[in-house]
Amino acid sequence: MSRISDHLSIKNHHLTIGGVDAVSLAQEYGTPLYVIDEDRVRRNFRTFKGAFPDADIYYAAKANWNLAVLRILASEGAGADVFSDGELYAALLAGIPPDRILFNGNSKTIHELQMAIDVGVRVSMDSLHELYALSNLALESGKTMDVAFRVNPDVSSDTHPKIATGLATSKFGIGYADVVEAYNEAKKLPGVRPVGIHCHIGSQITDIAPFREAVEKMMDLAEQITRLGIDLEFVDLGGGLGIPYQKEMETPEPRDLAGAILPIFDERSKNLGISPKLILEPGRYIVGDASILLTGVNTIKRSARNFVGVDVGLNLLIRPAMYDAYHEVIVANKADLDGAETYDIVGPICESGDIVAKDRKLPLIEPGDVVAVLDVGAYGFSMSSQYNGRCRCAEVLVCDGRVDLIRRREDYGDLIAKQAVPARLL
Ligand SMILES: *Cc1c(COP(=O)(O)O)cnc(C)c1O
Repeated sequence: MSRISDHLSIKNHHLTIGGVDAVSLAQEYGTPLYVIDEDRVRRNFRTFKGAFPDADIYYAAKANWNLAVLRILASEGAGADVFSDGELYAALLAGIPPDRILFNGNSKTIHELQMAIDVGVRVSMDSLHELYALSNLALESGKTMDVAFRVNPDVSSDTHPKIATGLATSKFGIGYADVVEAYNEAKKLPGVRPVGIHCHIGSQITDIAPFREAVEKMMDLAEQITRLGIDLEFVDLGGGLGIPYQKEMETPEPRDLAGAILPIFDERSKNLGISPKLILEPGRYIVGDASILLTGVNTIKRSARNFVGVDVGLNLLIRPAMYDAYHEVIVANKADLDGAETYDIVGPICESGDIVAKDRKLPLIEPGDVVAVLDVGAYGFSMSSQYNGRCRCAEVLVCDGRVDLIRRREDYGDLIAKQAVPARLL
Protein backbone atom coordinates (compact mmCIF):
# COMPACT_ATOMS: atom_id res chain seq x y z
CA MET A 1 0.00 0.00 0.00
CA SER A 2 1.28 3.50 -0.75
CA ARG A 3 -0.13 6.70 0.56
CA ILE A 4 -1.11 9.71 -1.54
CA SER A 5 -2.51 11.70 1.39
CA ASP A 6 -4.16 10.96 4.72
CA HIS A 7 -7.30 9.62 3.14
CA LEU A 8 -6.10 8.47 -0.29
CA SER A 9 -3.82 5.54 -0.90
CA ILE A 10 -3.10 2.82 -3.43
CA LYS A 11 -3.72 -0.85 -2.69
CA ASN A 12 -3.66 -3.72 -5.20
CA HIS A 13 -3.24 -1.18 -8.04
CA HIS A 14 -6.49 0.52 -6.97
CA LEU A 15 -7.06 3.97 -5.53
CA THR A 16 -8.67 3.84 -2.09
CA ILE A 17 -10.43 6.59 -0.20
CA GLY A 18 -11.21 6.40 3.49
CA GLY A 19 -10.14 2.76 3.43
CA VAL A 20 -12.56 1.89 0.61
CA ASP A 21 -11.58 0.66 -2.87
CA ALA A 22 -12.66 3.33 -5.36
CA VAL A 23 -13.03 0.81 -8.18
CA SER A 24 -15.44 -1.31 -6.12
CA LEU A 25 -17.40 1.84 -5.31
CA ALA A 26 -17.68 2.58 -9.03
CA GLN A 27 -18.87 -0.98 -9.66
CA GLU A 28 -21.39 -0.98 -6.85
CA TYR A 29 -22.87 2.49 -7.23
CA GLY A 30 -22.09 3.17 -10.88
CA THR A 31 -20.36 6.20 -12.33
CA PRO A 32 -20.33 9.14 -12.13
CA LEU A 33 -20.06 9.06 -8.36
CA TYR A 34 -19.04 11.67 -5.79
CA VAL A 35 -17.21 10.10 -2.83
CA ILE A 36 -16.71 12.15 0.33
CA ASP A 37 -14.35 11.15 3.13
CA GLU A 38 -15.87 11.96 6.51
CA ASP A 39 -12.65 11.90 8.50
CA ARG A 40 -11.02 14.31 6.11
CA VAL A 41 -13.84 16.82 6.53
CA ARG A 42 -13.56 16.53 10.31
CA ARG A 43 -9.80 16.81 10.22
CA ASN A 44 -9.85 19.90 8.01
CA PHE A 45 -12.38 21.54 10.28
CA ARG A 46 -10.28 20.73 13.37
CA THR A 47 -7.13 22.06 11.71
CA PHE A 48 -8.89 25.32 10.94
CA LYS A 49 -10.50 25.60 14.36
CA GLY A 50 -7.20 24.68 16.00
CA ALA A 51 -5.54 27.67 14.38
CA PHE A 52 -8.30 29.97 15.62
CA PRO A 53 -9.32 28.54 19.01
CA ASP A 54 -11.13 31.72 20.09
CA ALA A 55 -12.94 32.35 16.82
CA ASP A 56 -16.25 31.00 15.58
CA ILE A 57 -15.98 29.03 12.36
CA TYR A 58 -18.98 29.49 10.10
CA TYR A 59 -18.64 26.93 7.32
CA ALA A 60 -19.62 28.42 3.93
CA ALA A 61 -22.48 26.12 3.03
CA LYS A 62 -22.43 26.93 -0.67
CA ALA A 63 -19.21 24.95 -1.09
CA ASN A 64 -21.08 21.72 -0.37
CA TRP A 65 -24.43 21.68 1.36
CA ASN A 66 -25.16 17.98 1.30
CA LEU A 67 -27.03 17.34 4.55
CA ALA A 68 -24.56 14.68 5.66
CA VAL A 69 -21.68 17.14 5.27
CA LEU A 70 -23.57 19.85 7.15
CA ARG A 71 -24.42 17.32 9.85
CA ILE A 72 -20.76 16.32 10.26
CA LEU A 73 -19.80 19.96 10.60
CA ALA A 74 -22.66 20.68 13.01
CA SER A 75 -21.32 17.88 15.21
CA GLU A 76 -17.89 19.56 15.12
CA GLY A 77 -19.41 22.79 16.40
CA ALA A 78 -19.38 24.69 13.13
CA GLY A 79 -21.73 27.54 12.41
CA ALA A 80 -22.75 28.36 8.85
CA ASP A 81 -22.51 31.15 6.35
CA VAL A 82 -25.57 30.76 4.12
CA PHE A 83 -26.20 32.61 0.89
CA SER A 84 -29.82 31.71 0.17
CA ASP A 85 -33.08 30.54 1.70
CA GLY A 86 -32.30 27.02 0.51
CA GLU A 87 -28.89 26.93 2.20
CA LEU A 88 -30.47 28.31 5.36
CA TYR A 89 -33.13 25.62 5.23
CA ALA A 90 -30.52 22.89 4.82
CA ALA A 91 -28.24 24.26 7.56
CA LEU A 92 -31.09 24.39 10.07
CA LEU A 93 -32.28 20.93 9.07
CA ALA A 94 -28.76 19.61 9.66
CA GLY A 95 -28.86 20.99 13.18
CA ILE A 96 -26.69 24.08 12.92
CA PRO A 97 -28.11 26.41 15.59
CA PRO A 98 -29.64 29.68 14.29
CA ASP A 99 -27.46 31.73 16.62
CA ARG A 100 -24.43 30.40 14.75
CA ILE A 101 -25.69 31.25 11.27
CA LEU A 102 -25.07 34.41 9.26
CA PHE A 103 -27.38 35.03 6.32
CA ASN A 104 -25.36 36.56 3.48
CA GLY A 105 -26.34 37.54 -0.03
CA ASN A 106 -26.12 40.55 -2.29
CA SER A 107 -29.70 40.44 -3.56
CA LYS A 108 -31.94 38.84 -0.99
CA THR A 109 -35.65 38.59 -1.58
CA ILE A 110 -38.32 39.83 0.83
CA HIS A 111 -39.11 36.16 1.40
CA GLU A 112 -35.50 35.50 2.42
CA LEU A 113 -35.41 38.47 4.80
CA GLN A 114 -38.68 37.33 6.38
CA MET A 115 -37.27 33.83 6.76
CA ALA A 116 -34.23 35.26 8.56
CA ILE A 117 -36.59 37.08 10.93
CA ASP A 118 -38.77 34.03 11.50
CA VAL A 119 -35.92 31.65 12.30
CA GLY A 120 -33.85 34.25 14.13
CA VAL A 121 -30.53 34.35 12.31
CA ARG A 122 -28.29 37.38 11.95
CA VAL A 123 -28.17 39.04 8.56
CA SER A 124 -25.23 40.51 6.71
CA MET A 125 -26.67 43.32 4.64
CA ASP A 126 -25.37 44.26 1.27
CA SER A 127 -27.16 47.55 0.60
CA LEU A 128 -29.17 50.30 2.24
CA HIS A 129 -32.30 49.13 0.41
CA GLU A 130 -31.94 45.83 2.18
CA LEU A 131 -31.50 47.61 5.50
CA TYR A 132 -34.75 49.55 5.02
CA ALA A 133 -36.64 46.46 3.91
CA LEU A 134 -35.39 44.44 6.88
CA SER A 135 -36.19 47.24 9.30
CA ASN A 136 -39.79 47.41 8.02
CA LEU A 137 -40.30 43.65 8.06
CA ALA A 138 -38.79 43.32 11.54
CA LEU A 139 -41.10 46.04 12.86
CA GLU A 140 -44.14 44.27 11.39
CA SER A 141 -43.00 41.06 13.07
CA GLY A 142 -42.32 42.83 16.36
CA LYS A 143 -38.67 41.78 16.35
CA THR A 144 -35.27 43.43 16.43
CA MET A 145 -32.70 41.92 14.09
CA ASP A 146 -28.97 41.77 14.76
CA VAL A 147 -27.22 42.81 11.57
CA ALA A 148 -23.84 43.44 10.01
CA PHE A 149 -22.89 45.10 6.76
CA ARG A 150 -20.93 43.24 4.13
CA VAL A 151 -18.08 45.61 3.41
CA ASN A 152 -16.23 45.81 0.16
CA PRO A 153 -12.72 46.43 1.51
CA ASP A 154 -11.22 47.12 -1.92
CA VAL A 155 -8.31 44.71 -1.71
CA SER A 156 -7.08 42.72 -4.65
CA SER A 157 -6.09 39.09 -4.44
CA ASP A 158 -4.25 36.98 -6.97
CA THR A 159 -7.15 34.64 -7.63
CA HIS A 160 -9.22 33.99 -10.77
CA PRO A 161 -11.30 37.11 -11.66
CA LYS A 162 -14.53 35.13 -11.32
CA ILE A 163 -13.83 34.43 -7.65
CA ALA A 164 -12.33 37.77 -6.62
CA THR A 165 -14.99 39.51 -4.55
CA GLY A 166 -13.19 42.28 -2.70
CA LEU A 167 -12.36 44.69 -5.51
CA ALA A 168 -14.04 48.09 -5.54
CA THR A 169 -15.81 47.11 -8.77
CA SER A 170 -17.18 43.84 -7.35
CA LYS A 171 -20.94 43.53 -6.92
CA PHE A 172 -20.56 42.50 -3.28
CA GLY A 173 -20.75 44.70 -0.25
CA ILE A 174 -21.05 48.36 0.71
CA GLY A 175 -18.35 50.52 -0.85
CA TYR A 176 -15.54 51.20 1.59
CA ALA A 177 -16.16 54.95 1.65
CA ASP A 178 -19.88 54.52 2.41
CA VAL A 179 -19.65 52.02 5.24
CA VAL A 180 -19.58 54.38 8.21
CA GLU A 181 -22.61 56.25 6.92
CA ALA A 182 -24.46 52.96 6.51
CA TYR A 183 -23.86 52.16 10.20
CA ASN A 184 -25.03 55.62 11.14
CA GLU A 185 -28.21 54.99 9.23
CA ALA A 186 -28.70 51.54 10.77
CA LYS A 187 -28.24 53.01 14.23
CA LYS A 188 -31.20 55.33 13.70
CA LEU A 189 -33.58 52.73 12.34
CA PRO A 190 -35.98 50.66 14.43
CA GLY A 191 -36.07 46.88 14.07
CA VAL A 192 -32.36 46.51 13.35
CA ARG A 193 -29.33 46.54 15.62
CA PRO A 194 -25.93 46.85 13.95
CA VAL A 195 -23.66 44.49 15.89
CA GLY A 196 -21.16 43.19 13.37
CA ILE A 197 -19.01 43.92 10.38
CA HIS A 198 -18.32 41.47 7.60
CA CYS A 199 -16.16 41.02 4.51
CA HIS A 200 -15.11 38.22 2.21
CA ILE A 201 -12.39 39.10 -0.27
CA GLY A 202 -12.54 36.13 -2.62
CA SER A 203 -11.88 32.45 -2.99
CA GLN A 204 -8.88 30.18 -3.66
CA ILE A 205 -6.51 32.85 -2.33
CA THR A 206 -3.02 31.42 -2.02
CA ASP A 207 -1.20 34.41 -0.61
CA ILE A 208 -1.62 35.75 2.92
CA ALA A 209 -1.02 39.43 2.11
CA PRO A 210 -4.59 40.28 0.96
CA PHE A 211 -6.01 38.86 4.22
CA ARG A 212 -3.65 41.05 6.21
CA GLU A 213 -4.66 44.08 4.21
CA ALA A 214 -8.33 43.24 4.68
CA VAL A 215 -8.08 42.89 8.47
CA GLU A 216 -6.24 46.23 8.69
CA LYS A 217 -8.97 47.93 6.70
CA MET A 218 -11.73 46.21 8.63
CA MET A 219 -10.22 47.30 11.94
CA ASP A 220 -9.94 50.87 10.63
CA LEU A 221 -13.68 50.68 10.03
CA ALA A 222 -14.27 49.02 13.39
CA GLU A 223 -12.62 52.02 14.99
CA GLN A 224 -14.85 54.49 13.18
CA ILE A 225 -17.97 52.44 13.88
CA THR A 226 -17.10 52.16 17.56
CA ARG A 227 -16.79 55.94 17.65
CA LEU A 228 -20.40 56.15 16.46
CA GLY A 229 -21.32 54.50 19.74
CA ILE A 230 -21.98 51.11 18.17
CA ASP A 231 -20.94 48.11 20.25
CA LEU A 232 -19.34 45.69 17.78
CA GLU A 233 -20.06 42.13 18.86
CA PHE A 234 -18.38 40.45 15.90
CA VAL A 235 -15.91 40.99 13.10
CA ASP A 236 -16.35 38.44 10.30
CA LEU A 237 -13.43 38.20 7.89
CA GLY A 238 -15.06 35.68 5.53
CA GLY A 239 -13.39 32.69 3.91
CA GLY A 240 -11.21 32.29 0.86
CA LEU A 241 -8.16 30.31 1.95
CA GLY A 242 -6.92 28.37 -1.08
CA ILE A 243 -5.93 24.73 -1.32
CA PRO A 244 -3.17 23.08 -3.39
CA TYR A 245 -5.03 21.68 -6.39
CA GLN A 246 -1.67 20.98 -7.95
CA LYS A 247 0.41 18.79 -5.70
CA GLU A 248 3.54 20.87 -6.13
CA MET A 249 1.68 24.03 -5.16
CA GLU A 250 2.56 25.66 -1.84
CA THR A 251 -0.45 27.17 -0.14
CA PRO A 252 -0.73 28.78 3.27
CA GLU A 253 -2.34 26.76 6.05
CA PRO A 254 -4.84 28.07 8.61
CA ARG A 255 -2.00 28.58 11.10
CA ASP A 256 -0.28 30.90 8.60
CA LEU A 257 -3.50 32.83 8.19
CA ALA A 258 -3.87 33.01 11.96
CA GLY A 259 -0.27 34.17 12.34
CA ALA A 260 -0.95 37.02 9.95
CA ILE A 261 -4.33 38.27 11.11
CA LEU A 262 -4.71 37.44 14.80
CA PRO A 263 -2.00 39.81 16.09
CA ILE A 264 -3.59 42.68 14.16
CA PHE A 265 -7.10 41.77 15.21
CA ASP A 266 -6.15 41.30 18.87
CA GLU A 267 -4.02 44.38 19.20
CA ARG A 268 -6.42 46.73 17.49
CA SER A 269 -9.39 45.38 19.44
CA LYS A 270 -7.47 45.92 22.64
CA ASN A 271 -6.50 49.46 21.69
CA LEU A 272 -10.14 50.24 21.00
CA GLY A 273 -11.20 48.70 24.28
CA ILE A 274 -13.60 46.34 22.51
CA SER A 275 -13.74 42.55 22.43
CA PRO A 276 -15.66 41.48 19.35
CA LYS A 277 -15.88 37.80 18.44
CA LEU A 278 -13.83 36.89 15.39
CA ILE A 279 -15.73 34.88 12.79
CA LEU A 280 -14.21 33.09 9.79
CA GLU A 281 -16.09 31.44 6.96
CA PRO A 282 -13.95 28.79 5.27
CA GLY A 283 -15.67 26.68 2.65
CA ARG A 284 -13.16 25.24 0.23
CA TYR A 285 -10.53 24.53 2.90
CA ILE A 286 -12.95 22.37 4.88
CA VAL A 287 -14.37 20.19 2.11
CA GLY A 288 -12.27 20.73 -1.03
CA ASP A 289 -9.78 17.89 -0.71
CA ALA A 290 -12.19 15.55 1.09
CA SER A 291 -13.95 14.35 -2.03
CA ILE A 292 -13.19 12.62 -5.31
CA LEU A 293 -15.38 12.20 -8.38
CA LEU A 294 -15.30 8.80 -10.07
CA THR A 295 -15.96 8.79 -13.77
CA GLY A 296 -16.16 5.90 -16.21
CA VAL A 297 -14.27 5.89 -19.50
CA ASN A 298 -16.54 5.52 -22.56
CA THR A 299 -14.22 6.11 -25.49
CA ILE A 300 -10.66 6.85 -26.52
CA LYS A 301 -10.10 8.79 -29.70
CA ARG A 302 -6.66 9.44 -31.10
CA SER A 303 -6.71 12.42 -33.45
CA ALA A 304 -5.12 15.85 -33.09
CA ARG A 305 -5.06 15.01 -29.40
CA ASN A 306 -5.71 11.88 -27.40
CA PHE A 307 -9.24 12.33 -26.19
CA VAL A 308 -10.60 10.23 -23.36
CA GLY A 309 -14.39 10.53 -23.27
CA VAL A 310 -15.71 10.08 -19.74
CA ASP A 311 -19.17 10.27 -18.16
CA VAL A 312 -18.47 13.39 -16.04
CA GLY A 313 -18.76 16.75 -17.68
CA LEU A 314 -19.36 20.35 -16.74
CA ASN A 315 -22.84 19.30 -15.63
CA LEU A 316 -21.23 17.67 -12.58
CA LEU A 317 -17.98 19.62 -12.25
CA ILE A 318 -18.03 23.07 -13.77
CA ARG A 319 -14.82 24.37 -12.20
CA PRO A 320 -12.48 23.60 -15.13
CA ALA A 321 -14.82 25.29 -17.62
CA MET A 322 -15.78 28.18 -15.39
CA TYR A 323 -12.53 29.03 -13.62
CA ASP A 324 -9.92 27.26 -15.76
CA ALA A 325 -9.46 25.17 -12.66
CA TYR A 326 -6.93 22.38 -12.45
CA HIS A 327 -7.87 19.07 -10.84
CA GLU A 328 -5.48 16.16 -10.40
CA VAL A 329 -6.71 12.95 -12.06
CA ILE A 330 -5.76 9.34 -11.36
CA VAL A 331 -6.76 6.22 -13.25
CA ALA A 332 -8.34 4.50 -10.24
CA ASN A 333 -7.89 0.93 -11.47
CA LYS A 334 -4.27 1.53 -12.60
CA ALA A 335 -3.29 3.86 -9.82
CA ASP A 336 0.32 2.70 -9.50
CA LEU A 337 1.14 2.37 -13.20
CA ASP A 338 3.49 4.83 -14.85
CA GLY A 339 2.31 7.45 -17.29
CA ALA A 340 2.31 6.13 -20.88
CA GLU A 341 0.44 8.65 -22.96
CA THR A 342 -0.72 12.24 -22.75
CA TYR A 343 -4.48 12.66 -22.68
CA ASP A 344 -7.23 15.24 -22.61
CA ILE A 345 -10.05 13.96 -20.40
CA VAL A 346 -13.27 15.30 -21.90
CA GLY A 347 -16.88 15.19 -20.78
CA PRO A 348 -20.02 14.14 -22.68
CA ILE A 349 -21.58 17.62 -22.77
CA CYS A 350 -22.23 19.37 -26.05
CA GLU A 351 -19.80 22.23 -25.38
CA SER A 352 -16.23 22.42 -26.66
CA GLY A 353 -15.25 23.83 -23.25
CA ASP A 354 -16.31 20.61 -21.58
CA ILE A 355 -12.81 19.46 -20.69
CA VAL A 356 -12.15 17.93 -17.28
CA ALA A 357 -8.36 17.79 -17.52
CA LYS A 358 -5.88 18.68 -20.25
CA ASP A 359 -2.47 17.33 -21.19
CA ARG A 360 -2.20 14.65 -18.54
CA LYS A 361 0.36 11.91 -18.72
CA LEU A 362 -1.47 8.81 -17.54
CA PRO A 363 -1.20 5.04 -17.82
CA LEU A 364 -2.65 3.58 -21.01
CA ILE A 365 -6.40 4.18 -20.79
CA GLU A 366 -9.06 1.80 -22.12
CA PRO A 367 -12.86 1.90 -22.19
CA GLY A 368 -14.22 0.68 -18.86
CA ASP A 369 -11.40 2.21 -16.82
CA VAL A 370 -12.37 4.43 -13.90
CA VAL A 371 -10.80 7.88 -13.64
CA ALA A 372 -10.83 9.68 -10.29
CA VAL A 373 -10.91 13.47 -10.30
CA LEU A 374 -9.42 14.74 -7.04
CA ASP A 375 -10.23 17.68 -4.75
CA VAL A 376 -13.82 18.12 -5.92
CA GLY A 377 -15.48 18.52 -2.51
CA ALA A 378 -15.94 22.28 -2.82
CA TYR A 379 -18.04 23.83 -5.59
CA GLY A 380 -18.38 20.43 -7.23
CA PHE A 381 -21.78 18.87 -6.74
CA SER A 382 -23.12 22.14 -5.32
CA MET A 383 -22.67 23.77 -8.75
CA SER A 384 -24.06 20.85 -10.74
CA SER A 385 -26.90 21.06 -13.25
CA GLN A 386 -29.08 18.91 -15.49
CA TYR A 387 -27.73 20.48 -18.66
CA ASN A 388 -28.08 18.25 -21.73
CA GLY A 389 -30.79 16.29 -19.92
CA ARG A 390 -28.31 14.51 -17.72
CA CYS A 391 -29.32 13.12 -14.37
CA ARG A 392 -27.21 14.23 -11.46
CA CYS A 393 -25.11 11.43 -9.98
CA ALA A 394 -25.13 9.77 -6.58
CA GLU A 395 -22.96 10.72 -3.62
CA VAL A 396 -21.53 8.38 -1.03
CA LEU A 397 -19.86 9.07 2.28
CA VAL A 398 -16.97 6.86 3.30
CA CYS A 399 -15.63 6.58 6.80
CA ASP A 400 -12.93 4.21 7.89
CA GLY A 401 -13.94 1.43 5.53
CA ARG A 402 -17.71 1.90 5.64
CA VAL A 403 -19.88 3.37 2.91
CA ASP A 404 -23.21 5.20 3.10
CA LEU A 405 -25.27 6.51 0.23
CA ILE A 406 -25.97 10.18 0.97
CA ARG A 407 -27.69 11.11 -2.29
CA ARG A 408 -29.41 8.82 -4.73
CA ARG A 409 -28.74 9.14 -8.43
CA GLU A 410 -31.44 11.14 -10.20
CA ASP A 411 -33.69 9.40 -12.74
CA TYR A 412 -35.61 10.64 -15.79
CA GLY A 413 -38.55 11.47 -13.55
CA ASP A 414 -36.34 13.96 -11.69
CA LEU A 415 -35.45 15.63 -14.98
CA ILE A 416 -39.07 16.48 -15.73
CA ALA A 417 -40.57 16.45 -12.22
CA LYS A 418 -41.55 20.12 -12.13
CA GLN A 419 -42.40 20.58 -15.79
CA ALA A 420 -45.91 20.81 -17.21
CA VAL A 421 -47.17 20.70 -20.78
CA PRO A 422 -50.22 22.96 -21.30
CA ALA A 423 -53.40 20.95 -21.97
CA ARG A 424 -53.81 22.53 -25.40
CA LEU A 425 -50.57 20.89 -26.51
CA LEU A 426 -51.63 17.44 -25.50
C1 LIG B 1 -18.06 31.73 -0.82
C2 LIG B 1 -17.99 32.44 0.46
C3 LIG B 1 -17.17 31.96 1.50
C4 LIG B 1 -16.29 30.75 1.35
O1 LIG B 1 -15.26 30.90 0.46
P1 LIG B 1 -14.14 29.76 0.32
O2 LIG B 1 -13.24 30.25 -0.72
O3 LIG B 1 -14.86 28.51 -0.08
O4 LIG B 1 -13.49 29.60 1.65
C5 LIG B 1 -17.20 32.64 2.69
N1 LIG B 1 -17.97 33.73 2.88
C6 LIG B 1 -18.76 34.22 1.90
C7 LIG B 1 -19.59 35.41 2.17
C8 LIG B 1 -18.79 33.61 0.67
O5 LIG B 1 -19.56 34.11 -0.30
